[in-house]
Amino acid sequence: MDFLEMPLINAHCHLELSSLAGKLPRNKPFFEWLSELRKEVANWTKEDYQKSYIKGLELAHSVNTGIIYDVGNQMSEPHTPYPIPHTPILSMHEIIKQPLPFPCTPHSIYATPPELVRMAIKQCREAGIPWSIHLAEFDDSDRFSDFLEIFKDELGLVKNGFIVHGNFLTEKDLDFMAKNDIAIVHCPQSHEWFGHKDPDFEMWKKSGADICIATDSLASADSLDLMEQIKTLFRRYPKAFTHKEAMAAITATPGKYLAKTNRY
Ligand SMILES: [Zn+2]
Repeated sequence: MDFLEMPLINAHCHLELSSLAGKLPRNKPFFEWLSELRKEVANWTKEDYQKSYIKGLELAHSVNTGIIYDVGNQMSEPHTPYPIPHTPILSMHEIIKQPLPFPCTPHSIYATPPELVRMAIKQCREAGIPWSIHLAEFDDSDRFSDFLEIFKDELGLVKNGFIVHGNFLTEKDLDFMAKNDIAIVHCPQSHEWFGHKDPDFEMWKKSGADICIATDSLASADSLDLMEQIKTLFRRYPKAFTHKEAMAAITATPGKYLAKTNRY
């Protein structure tokens, strides 16, 4: 199938944060940004989160997003009848400190206790749903090796997942990922928003690991439009990817991971 005929797939966003568009600072250390985010949402009710989620869904739909792998911890996805517009969504419940109802995925290894990281990923593996985790984003303190350590007696559990950001992944990490169907998810606007170090795209590509491009949330990106993410990527790194590679990163590659699940 030609890329133009394939649905655009957003492999990483947080729809429930869509009302934060334009409200948070750029070029701040992540934890300062996070404390601003917490202040902004401190008085949000369940309805505010739902409104924010639907706003994001409508925006994503208006820019032809075909499928969304969404991560949220406020349980703000509206239940049946399904929200209008109907864009297929895989709604993952993001575990920070407390367990949440299935299907779950851990936020990160610095915010989520190891036993909950393991439980969430094990459930995903058993259900054939890709897991995701924010990892190796700002420095080398949340390492892929520390993540693997959680599964050291059962490494097979980590197949089929998304490492989100991964700016500090090493060649060894990427080699393991390539062999175990673990994709790296790069979010160009969010990457620029925080001023992270340049990714080593050459090393990523050479490793053979799958690469997806996604939006992240409007709390750290200007747009939920995947094509805008590609534009940002090409503006900043004109030679890093061919157009074909970039299109695969928002269609066929994430599609390969979501193909086995029918939960959206
Ligand atoms: Zn994220």
